[in-house]
Amino acid sequence: MPAKTTKTAKSHSRTSHAGPGLYLHVPFCRAKCRYCAFSSQVFTMEAAAIYQRAVIAEIKLRRATHPDLRPATLYIGGGTPSMLPAWAMEPIVRELAKSFAFAPGMEFTVEANPDSLDLQTAGNLIRLGANRLSLGIQSLSDETLELLGRPHTAKQAVLAYAAARQAGFSNVSVDMIFGLPGQRLRLWLDSLRRVIRMRPEHLSCYGLTLEPATPLAAMADSGEIALPGEDEQAKMFLNGGELLEDSGYLQYEISSFCRMGYQSRHNLNYWEGGDYLGLGPSAVSTMSGARWENPGVLAAYAKAAQTGALGRESAPLSRQDAAREKLMLGLRMTRGLSIKDYNAATGADLLRRNAAVIQALRQHELIRIRNGHLRLSRAGMLVSNTIIERLMPTFDN
Ligand code: SF4
Repeated sequence: MPAKTTKTAKSHSRTSHAGPGLYLHVPFCRAKCRYCAFSSQVFTMEAAAIYQRAVIAEIKLRRATHPDLRPATLYIGGGTPSMLPAWAMEPIVRELAKSFAFAPGMEFTVEANPDSLDLQTAGNLIRLGANRLSLGIQSLSDETLELLGRPHTAKQAVLAYAAARQAGFSNVSVDMIFGLPGQRLRLWLDSLRRVIRMRPEHLSCYGLTLEPATPLAAMADSGEIALPGEDEQAKMFLNGGELLEDSGYLQYEISSFCRMGYQSRHNLNYWEGGDYLGLGPSAVSTMSGARWENPGVLAAYAKAAQTGALGRESAPLSRQDAAREKLMLGLRMTRGLSIKDYNAATGADLLRRNAAVIQALRQHELIRIRNGHLRLSRAGMLVSNTIIERLMPTFDN
């Protein structure tokens, strides 16, 4: 099944990316959800104070190493950024704005969860310049939310959405998960219809993946819960996509749907292989062919930020990793992978090198080639990992 993409972002979006992107990771949540493999910890005031000082130190270091960075998008993700109190969030955003010249009309997204988004918090975010909100609703069934360990009810999710609108957000994205324990196709489509009636500009629909070493994976191993079968999950993906398209949402990426003009510019830049600078614990950066990742544990991150160690790391992406990533990210988008860009970036001839595989995939209507792009059909999206493996080139270095 299509897997959740890495977190990396009205703004009334245009169709092509303008990069580079700036990402800030906020590692706090009210509680740890049972399926979660993201870098996050339970919020405390002391940890938020340590985090705030460390992020400001990191911004100063990155400003010195990237003095000309002009971000086209800012994405504050997590974790749960809406948990960060205004006294911690405001100085960070002001330091970012002072350090990196923000482009006028820049897309500025903040992720929020229903347990920590009220009218005042949403209003504070707008006053800081946020113009896009990504709200993690995930499910509108209280029973399922409880099973997942989400610290909110369906009613709280609806109220948080209303607060975002009342505060003035005119571009709201909603995250939903399908393939949940006990969920059947009819229940998934009912949830989706209820969310569509709320009229968000953007929807991200992820298939649940059981991450190793999470409580939910252990519950599935022990037989305490059962996920829908593969056929049922495939129907959820296919029928959910059709319902969204019939309701005026355009699918532009495996998990992403939007009303016309509301693509996430931040994520498009990432999927198109543009540069992005990541700040905060566990944040990943890719700048000019180099890749690095910040320490994930808050104490280690804070130490590296305060001692200046953060500004010095970076490693070039290997040819193999660059090719793999270009394939994986390019094929996520419904417009597909630019064959010309892929060949130029990797030095490999995608069509000639994979002629037999490509012919077979086309015969099975899993891929299409149009306007110089190789793209997955909806059926192909269901087996995207297998297709990517079959197309992966190998290099000596
Ligand atoms: S809110 Fe998101 S990041 Fe936080 S614990 Fe739950 S799934 Fe993980």
